[in-house]
Amino acid sequence: MPRNPQEIKPPETASRIAEACTRCGTCVRRCAFLNKYGMPGDIARQVLTGDSTVDPYECSLCNLCAAVCPEGLAPGDLFLDRRRLAADQGLVDFKPYAQLLGYEKLGHSRLFAWYPPTPAKTVFFPGCTLPGTRPRITWKFFEALRECEPTTAMVLDCCHKPSHDLGRQSYFLDQFRDIRDRLLALGVERIVVACPNCHKVFRKYGDGLTVATVYEVLAQDQARITDKTALASPRTTVQITVHDPCPLRDQVGVHQAVRALLAARGYGIREMRDSGARTLCCGEGGAVGFKNPALAATWIEKRRAQAQGDRIITYCAGCTGFLDRAAPTSHLGDVLFEPEKAMRGRSQAAKTPMTYWNRLWLKRRLIRDA
Ligand code: SF4
Ligand code: SF4
Repeated sequence: MPRNPQEIKPPETASRIAEACTRCGTCVRRCAFLNKYGMPGDIARQVLTGDSTVDPYECSLCNLCAAVCPEGLAPGDLFLDRRRLAADQGLVDFKPYAQLLGYEKLGHSRLFAWYPPTPAKTVFFPGCTLPGTRPRITWKFFEALRECEPTTAMVLDCCHKPSHDLGRQSYFLDQFRDIRDRLLALGVERIVVACPNCHKVFRKYGDGLTVATVYEVLAQDQARITDKTALASPRTTVQITVHDPCPLRDQVGVHQAVRALLAARGYGIREMRDSGARTLCCGEGGAVGFKNPALAATWIEKRRAQAQGDRIITYCAGCTGFLDRAAPTSHLGDVLFEPEKAMRGRSQAAKTPMTYWNRLWLKRRLIRDA
């Protein structure tokens, strides 16, 4: 948090929001953070006059406000800008995020990262959390992708979204440039991700690379997947609901692919009130839980209420962990490959320190396979 928010230069985004916000309250009614702090127009004016005491590290950076604002404003950008300015000026105490930043650093280290030894046009980039919590499901996704495109290789690394969201922009840009350069040097043209955060980072900063989700590839190529990696169905029709992760709120093709995979296996999908472009944060966004766990829990509770007792299926390992604290939640990978276990709530998601061992296990397997 900024030691002294008044020291922060007013970000440019503040002027536009201060001028154009009509105080209609549409975003405030939906957002746990704005509910606490008030209208974006008022906050922006306070920022411009140096009177704002709003902590930008309590915003989930989920962009729901932008999705619902009739004036086309994006208040979340104001808070990301505020984070960046505060971080640039050395006003942020990153101690509360030490665990998160350590996780990110290890993910990019020589010990944990893995790049294939030979050139590859398409790589599966599963991120950190899915391989850490579900290494075998990650491998099954990889096998299924190779059924669709046999030359697909796998890369293990961290996309550095935590630093991006914490406002450490120059550090993030340096680290991500390194990842992108290594991929381009390998001849990579297409990244297939499992994590919505990686998707958002590659979409925005992955110049020269196209990005797709593993869910889209599998939905398109379901017929080509053989018994070896068969995507399984539950024995009986089960009603579930889907939580769309907020970094993918504007990716309609991904929403449709996920629903197509579920519908093809006989799941009955009941949509929550806020889904697709208007989906809610799961509570993990913006690393708010490290700063204000009660505020993060408000988002989780909103989701629990909207699920109305149905099992929530989501396609982000982070969202799965957060939502499962309050409502039965499964990762789509568990549901596709081990439906009976998933529907009984028996899927195994490893916890720290096993998440680190699991990523090393996966890397060993890739070395053997190379
Ligand atoms: S929805 Fe837009 S115009 Fe309405 S209060 Fe929010 S930022 Fe202002
Ligand atoms: S980005 Fe999300 S948490 Fe932040 S102000 Fe917008 S809706 Fe609220």
